[in-house]
Amino acid sequence: MRTWRFVGVVASVAMAAWGQNPPASGVDLQAIDKSVNPCQNFYMYACGAWMNANPIPAEYSRWGRFDELAERNEKILREILEDSAKHQERSSLDQKIGAFYSSCMNEVAVDKAGDGPLKPGLARIQALKSKDDLPAEVARLHAQDVNVFFAFGSSPDADDSKMTIADVDQGGLGLPDRSYYLDAKDEETRTKYRDHVARMFELIGDSKADAAARAKAVLQIETALAQASLDRVSRRNPQLTHHKMSLADFLAFDPHFDFKRYFAESNAPKFNALNVSVPDFFKSLDKNVSSNSLDDLKSYLTWHYVSAYAAYLSKPFVDENFDFYQRFLAGTKELAPRWKRCVRNADRNLGDALGQKYVERAFAGQSKAKTQELVAIIEKKMATDIDSLPWMSAATKQQALMKLKGVTNKIGYPEKWKDYSSVHVTDENLVANVAGAREYENRRDQNKIGKPVDRAEFHMTPPTVNAYYSPLENNINFPAGILQPPFYQSGADMAVNFGGVGAVIGHELTHGFDDQGRQFDADGNLRDWWTKQDNEEFKKRVDCIANQYSQFSPVPGVKLNGRLTLGENGADNAGVRLAFMALLGGLEDGSISKDKLDGYTAQQRFFLGYAQIWCQNQRPESLRNSVRTNPHSPGEFRVNGVLQNVPEFSSAFGCSAGQPMVSANACRVW
Ligand SMILES: [Zn+2]
Repeated sequence: MRTWRFVGVVASVAMAAWGQNPPASGVDLQAIDKSVNPCQNFYMYACGAWMNANPIPAEYSRWGRFDELAERNEKILREILEDSAKHQERSSLDQKIGAFYSSCMNEVAVDKAGDGPLKPGLARIQALKSKDDLPAEVARLHAQDVNVFFAFGSSPDADDSKMTIADVDQGGLGLPDRSYYLDAKDEETRTKYRDHVARMFELIGDSKADAAARAKAVLQIETALAQASLDRVSRRNPQLTHHKMSLADFLAFDPHFDFKRYFAESNAPKFNALNVSVPDFFKSLDKNVSSNSLDDLKSYLTWHYVSAYAAYLSKPFVDENFDFYQRFLAGTKELAPRWKRCVRNADRNLGDALGQKYVERAFAGQSKAKTQELVAIIEKKMATDIDSLPWMSAATKQQALMKLKGVTNKIGYPEKWKDYSSVHVTDENLVANVAGAREYENRRDQNKIGKPVDRAEFHMTPPTVNAYYSPLENNINFPAGILQPPFYQSGADMAVNFGGVGAVIGHELTHGFDDQGRQFDADGNLRDWWTKQDNEEFKKRVDCIANQYSQFSPVPGVKLNGRLTLGENGADNAGVRLAFMALLGGLEDGSISKDKLDGYTAQQRFFLGYAQIWCQNQRPESLRNSVRTNPHSPGEFRVNGVLQNVPEFSSAFGCSAGQPMVSANACRVW
């Protein structure tokens, strides 16, 4: 059970100052489309002009405010990396990230090497003599982050969250969701996937006929894994991935795959108990291993090994990988320029080394104090909010307030950086550098098993423009990258800032109390602290939100999954409410001007500030995939879905009953 709840889009990075001078209010006036009635579609009102002026660049599947920031930030990271590449003798940090970046940027050498760097690994898989050799090979592949069959790592123990436990989970798929293997409507995707897998086999030297046969076997093995996998909505319920058992009991599940041997070959210390997230998956794995031939199983391992490194190989591999995963599944038109891909690779593989340099350069000292101050304000509002809930009993309120008090806040960057001194990085070999970094991360993760949880650790790199709440640690985490425009504009009107970063803070805090987070207590243990009655009242209220969002359609013929997005939508709704309470506080104490600025009242500026974070354009292919895999709703619904439920929004813009932005059945949980 390794579950962190993010505020936004995954894998975004950013930083930088506001490009132009911010307008007095901080509202982006140029983004607004005044031809739209804000009571008809507030998202289009707040973002319409921005959307027109910002078509999606060819190298993106989605272009929004997060991505704008990410791109500016990537330019800073590029400068850091180029400087380190030139001065590798300066420090150990410069050597690691500089050499990594050089090895990545040397396209001529990478292209010349072809699939050469994978040859020893491919030969090793081909040399497996019997299925008894599988566990050791799977352990070696897992150490390099190759996603075969299942996942194994460490996790806080949900019963004793201060300690780390071993955790095995479902895995091993090449398509983004189990449903792609099973739904009748996805036949085309499966055909394209099988063709893609076959072309990868051809690229490593197989004949066309062999490649096609091997791809067919891969799809058959993955389909069986998909059938045994738990779906995403069920996985949101932590009870359904909580199955602690003795090692002996677990070993009995898989007589044909020797897990004892697998664990011995892994980097993990010895353990006697573990969490088996999806027991049925592991029972079925046994049959998958016993019923497929050794050759077919080798094909499966080979495919994932090549796919896991494809982006780091020569042009034919990079292009083929892009064609399927980016062009076909997400609608992206062009590969990103090499420097961007190399910046992202450095962040992904040596994030704490690059992050240290980033923080030195880009994270202003006062940012941390300012964030802490804002978090304290929003936390106070949440306590007031919980206290005033009409549907919750005093007993449950007391527990909720205890949990709120137990939340710790981590801002900016970790106190302790990862020590990469054991990671060998050279200018010469990109694949070897990536493998070394992955093996380091795998060792680091598995070494935690049996030890106390280090709650100071960050699970996002410092330049990331995102934030998360960890239910097992009961903490909220804000990487340095997020305290920037448009989330937070230093010196701008606080109405807009509360709509931006204030709502984000409220969002993260609420994750501790959403349908998933509320099942954990103040210590991060999976323990029910709700009375039966309050539990029922809560469920009634979240059902309202699930039904509301299930009606939204981001592309013709496709509706959002209100259950998949329930936690995020709930966090958005409460986040805005808490931030709005902070706005009212500011108006009361005079820190926020009651006057109109740029033609907008403070309440209007607040809602514009919120909406404008989510301005985005997204390709239909990407939206269709996102609806099935992303627990976050697309920007339009993060705005309109929330504000339809907020009476203060209707008042601020003079909307009346019957208009689309005024829900007849407004949902409210917190
Ligand atoms: Zn979230």
